[in-house]
Amino acid sequence: MTNPTCPFCALTKNPDAELLIRSTNSVAFYDRFPSAPGHVLVVPTIHVGRLCELPAPIAAELFDVVLQVQRTLQMNNPADAYTIGVNDGPAAGQTIPHVHVHLIPRHHGDTADPRGPGVGRSGRLRTTGRTDRLHLRAHLRDPAIRRHAKAPHHHTTKQYPARRHLTE
Ligand SMILES: [Zn+2]
Repeated sequence: MTNPTCPFCALTKNPDAELLIRSTNSVAFYDRFPSAPGHVLVVPTIHVGRLCELPAPIAAELFDVVLQVQRTLQMNNPADAYTIGVNDGPAAGQTIPHVHVHLIPRHHGDTADPRGPGVGRSGRLRTTGRTDRLHLRAHLRDPAIRRHAKAPHHHTTKQYPARRHLTE
């Protein structure tokens, strides 16, 4: 479940890597190309490209680590706010095809427009149409479709136990 050419897989397998923390299925480390001081990446140890490919317990554990890192950052070096995000696919700016959560400390005035480069503000995209909104709502409320939308079957919770013990 790792990819030999993936830098994040190499990092998660490297016992000498400078990790901030390692849980059963995730690791956190400082971004090598930080957007701001304290920019941390939190990465699952299995190699999947997209967030929706993660089994739900692994995704929950991943965000549990995000929260623990954020709380600890905030205790040590308080920020005014945080940008926490996933560039989920190349069109959204994902450059390494292994899911990772950015955790970026933010401060008042650190950029002219702290909301970032949303396509909605470029004028190319306006609001979601009423038909699309109703369609999505109907799908989200349909248990048969929700079952279909779960993570692929080859990821099982037995294979990847959602233990949340932090080991370092
Ligand atoms: Zn990988």
